[in-house]
Amino acid sequence: MDCIFCKIMKGEAPADIYYEDDHAIAFLDANPANVGHTLVIPKKHFETIDKMNKIELDKLSEAILKISKGIMTIADGMNIIQNNKEVAGQAVPHVHFHLVPRYKGDGYSLGWKREKKITKKENNEFLKKLKEVKI
Ligand code: 5GP
Ligand code: ZN
Repeated sequence: MDCIFCKIMKGEAPADIYYEDDHAIAFLDANPANVGHTLVIPKKHFETIDKMNKIELDKLSEAILKISKGIMTIADGMNIIQNNKEVAGQAVPHVHFHLVPRYKGDGYSLGWKREKKITKKENNEFLKKLKEVKI
């Protein structure tokens, strides 16, 4: 499979991997938003988070938690971002969590505008659909 993150995981492509366990690796993002911008990925290839089961996500969470504790001792804060599908900004189709250390004065603010007017009808339609797919 031609997946850059699978290649990194197998050592077939270079990356600053600084954490590894049986289920996950963590490495520095090649185009970091801040110093220490880390990607945490499952060793197994899943395109999006909904393809994982609870155990697989639990295992990945352990790595995310460990690295979060490290980052939070060094940085002033942290954003965790996880994109699924191109429409949501996913460029690499292998599940990954961005752990972005935040530093006072780094100048970022969250990019989402909360200005959309969502009607009660739209919310209800969403909730109705969600009920039908039985999560
Ligand atoms: P996405 O937009 O899919 O959520 O994020 C993909 C991230 O992977 C981007 O932040 C990008 O900089 C990073 N990335 C893409 N290719 C490579 C690579 O070959 N090595 C590393 N270290 N990061 C990569
Ligand atoms: Zn992959």
